[in-house]
Amino acid sequence: MRKPYIAGNWKMNMTPSEGAAFAKELVKALQGSSTKVMIAPPFVTIPAVVEAVKGSSIIVAAQNMSDNLNGAFTGEVSALMLKDLGVTNVILGHSERRALYGETDQFINKKVLLALSQGMDVDLCIGETLSEREGGKLEELLTRQITEGLKGVTELQMKHITLAYEPVWAIGTGKTATPEDADSAHAFIRSLIEKLYTKGVAEELIIQYGGSVKASNAKALMSKEHIDGALVGGASLSVEQFLPIVNFDR
Ligand code: PGA
Repeated sequence: MRKPYIAGNWKMNMTPSEGAAFAKELVKALQGSSTKVMIAPPFVTIPAVVEAVKGSSIIVAAQNMSDNLNGAFTGEVSALMLKDLGVTNVILGHSERRALYGETDQFINKKVLLALSQGMDVDLCIGETLSEREGGKLEELLTRQITEGLKGVTELQMKHITLAYEPVWAIGTGKTATPEDADSAHAFIRSLIEKLYTKGVAEELIIQYGGSVKASNAKALMSKEHIDGALVGGASLSVEQFLPIVNFDR
């Protein structure tokens, strides 16, 4: 049985003081919940949030990291720095990084391998644009993003990988993939992982759906066989909206 895993990607929202206040509220609201929950604040907000969630089971992740461990890389943040703050997880390959900052599959793969070598867990994002979907390129695109993104990742390391299927056309647009469409993409992803690894790896892999997940659609999405959780953007920024997503099964 795959345990539900709900993640909140704050993107470039929440100052350190706002993030700390929000995280404290979330810790209280989540008391007694058994769902695995991760939140990903902006880099500078991470220390305040790590402090605020201390003693709870909430996981704090970074939204990105450098492809190098240290050195002359102005403006970058490394895995070593994140780990020193107590950060155990990192989101990589988000479609905004791919589209707005030119991140390629090869570049993302370098970061995936680096994060794993540093003992971090990775939430790797994949997903198609509307024109790729309409052009019948969905499976080809997912195959490329997954094969390239996970190149060199061993069967053993797959325990530290979560995949987030996020159709680009559904992110921040209010348009959600239907639970059926999302589930069929997830089923394809799982079958690909079985081909690349083993049936066991495929069955254990958590595949989150992302793209306009909200309280009103979380249950329908999560009740699908291959949808094991959600990566939530906009609706992760308020406890009122995020809590019912975490508690989708209540
Ligand atoms: P959204 O973002 O929930 O605001 O659509 C999801 C994401 O980008 O991870």
